[in-house]
Parts: sequence; structure tokens; C-alpha cells
Amino acid sequence: MQPKFSAIYFEATRRCNLRCPMCMTGSNQREVVAHSRKRELAFEEIRDLVLHPAKNLGVKAVGWSGGEFLVRKDALDLLRLTADLGYQCKVCSNGELLDRDMLRAIKEAAGGKVTIALGLNSIDEHNSATRDADFDRTLEVLELCHELDIDRHVIVTLGKHNAESFERTIDYLIERRISFNRSPLVARGSGKAGFAEAAFDRNDLEQSFHPVLRTRVNGYVSYTPFFLSPELYERASGGLEGGIPHNPPIGCWVGNWITLTAEGDVSVCPVLLDALSAGNVREKPLDELVLSSPLFQEITDRSRLKGRCGRCRYQYTCGGCRAMAWYHSGDYMAEDPTCFFEPADRETRSEHEEETGRWFTKYLIVARHAGFFERRKRGPEPTGD
Ligand code: SF4
Repeated sequence: MQPKFSAIYFEATRRCNLRCPMCMTGSNQREVVAHSRKRELAFEEIRDLVLHPAKNLGVKAVGWSGGEFLVRKDALDLLRLTADLGYQCKVCSNGELLDRDMLRAIKEAAGGKVTIALGLNSIDEHNSATRDADFDRTLEVLELCHELDIDRHVIVTLGKHNAESFERTIDYLIERRISFNRSPLVARGSGKAGFAEAAFDRNDLEQSFHPVLRTRVNGYVSYTPFFLSPELYERASGGLEGGIPHNPPIGCWVGNWITLTAEGDVSVCPVLLDALSAGNVREKPLDELVLSSPLFQEITDRSRLKGRCGRCRYQYTCGGCRAMAWYHSGDYMAEDPTCFFEPADRETRSEHEEETGRWFTKYLIVARHAGFFERRKRGPEPTGD
């Protein structure tokens, strides 16, 4: 079966108008940006080598990021092309250029439907540990989006800096009906320097992050460990495709998205860009590159996961964070070392499975609205029992 993918995440430039202290894309490093600038993919290359070929891979959505995507002069043209090709559009931004006029222009270019995603790691002073973006400015942009009827999303980077404030931050977002996803702080770019001290560990995950993640449906799009019953997933979705949960995507998103750097290097996850490369689209168009890539073949084969992930009941519905495996052990097929579950074998159930199932059935409504879940034609409605 040919693998299919849900989304592209494209860091289309490393240039940025901010200098975040823990920037993981190299945008706060002058030499990285200068080197990238000479090799940045041009509009025509993105059109012919990425967006057109992605149609053959089942991609539904394109997320534009950076650096700061909006510093590209052709940003609105790229959004127009994305919408014309029938993809959902998402713009990941630091918010600095997002005034009312720019938001209107983005919405118009994207054909009237776009999601603006902003980084907000904490609603209190912990935000500045990793971000230069002004916290009040971020909240202002979120309000402006609401006023202009633009979908909003927040990316929360998890590390020791926001373990204590995480629940307050998430509740703030939930009160405003803003969806979110968690992204782990990793040793990429300037994140390398502080990774050993700043990365969360399994205790932080168990005590601070996971209790919040598993009880807030707005963030069910992706987190690990994800204790979803494989039987429930099968009933809800019709099963895995190529060993990966696509309908909807859950747990680790490796196998659901394709990620690119500004220079056209392709990888399996945004935080693994610069660490793992499947090749460059200037060598082969995206579809050919991905379908012939040993990296994609191996990392999406969850039967080859090692350690606890390889003997776990949730091997396929969770998969363990491949980025955490890589950054902590250097082996992207290793167990997720930040997971606090200790399965003896596939019979071991997490005490959180039932709760995860209940929230997951609610999440299906969110995922259907977002275009990432299609209800099966026949069969009983899934329940969390
Ligand atoms: S052991 Fe691995 S697959 Fe199982 S719940 Fe933990 S991270 Fe997920």
C-alpha cells in the first residue's frame, strides 16, 4: 500500500524579524541564515517540486512557517497557490507582522479560510525563557483573529520552563476555544545549548504535562504517551493505514506529516529538520523522494520500534515521540525515554486508557471539523467503553 500523508509543515525561510533565545530553526544565528538565504527555494521550485507533487501523497493541509514566513516577499502568493491547489492553509508566525490589514490580506489570499498558529509557551513570565515575541502582542493577535473570524491555534513548546504554568496556559486557551498542540523542546539550533537543563523528563511529563494533555480535548491532535485503545481506534476510524493512524492522526505524527526546510531538505517531523534528512527536493520532486526514502520507510514501520514502545499495547496508536527517542539516544527507533508507562507486554493497560478513550471520542468531532477525520460509512458509533 502506498503511504499517504495528512500535512506538510514547511519552514519556508530561516529569516526572521525576532531573535528568540532558544530558536530551534537557526534563525537567530547570522551565519545559518546567510547560508540558507543563498539556497532558499524560490516560488517556482516550491510550486513544481513540493506543492504539485504533494497531491500524489494525499496531503490535505500545508502549514507555512519559518523563521518568520511572512518576511518572504512572495508569502501571499504562496498562500494563494496553496488555496488554489485545494490545500487547507495554516500560517505559523511570531505575530509581529500580523496587524489587521495583514490578517485580512492573508485570509483573502488563502481563499477565506486560514488558521493562524502562534507560539505561546506560557501565559506568565516563563514565556520569555524561549521566546522573544512579546506575550501581550501574541494575545492581541489572537483576539484580532477572533474578531476577523480567522481560526486560531497555539503551539506550546514543552520544557522545564513551563512545567509549572502549563495548566494555567492551557486553561487560558480553552476558555477562548483556541486549539493547541504540544511540541517538545529539542537540541536543534540554539536549543542545543540548553537542552540538557531545559528539556522535560518523564517526571515532568507524568506530573505536570500529561494530566493536562489527557483531559483537554483541544490538544488531542498529537501528544505522547497516548494511551488510546487500539480496539477503539479501529472501531472509530476503520483501522490503521500502512501501520499509521491517519483517520484522524494521533499520537506521534511521524508518518502523517512531511516537513521541509527553506533549502528544500525533507524530514519526518519539524523538530527533526536539520537532524534527519530524506534528501532534497532539488534532487527529486517531493512524492518521488518520500516514496523512495529509506528514512520514511523505516521510521513509519512501527513494528520495528524498540524497547518499551516495541512491546506496548499503544505501539500503533501512540508510537512514542520519535524526536525524543532521537535527541536522547541517537536512535530514532528507540523507546520514547520521556514516557512514564512501563508495559510488561502488550497485555499491560494504562490506568489512563479509559479516560483517554472518552476524550478521544469527543476529539473526533473536532478532527472532523478540521477535515482530518471521516466517519466510517457503516458500523456502530464508537464509544470510550
Ligand atoms: S511505551 Fe512507547 S508506545 Fe507505549 S505509551 Fe509509552 S511512548 Fe507510547
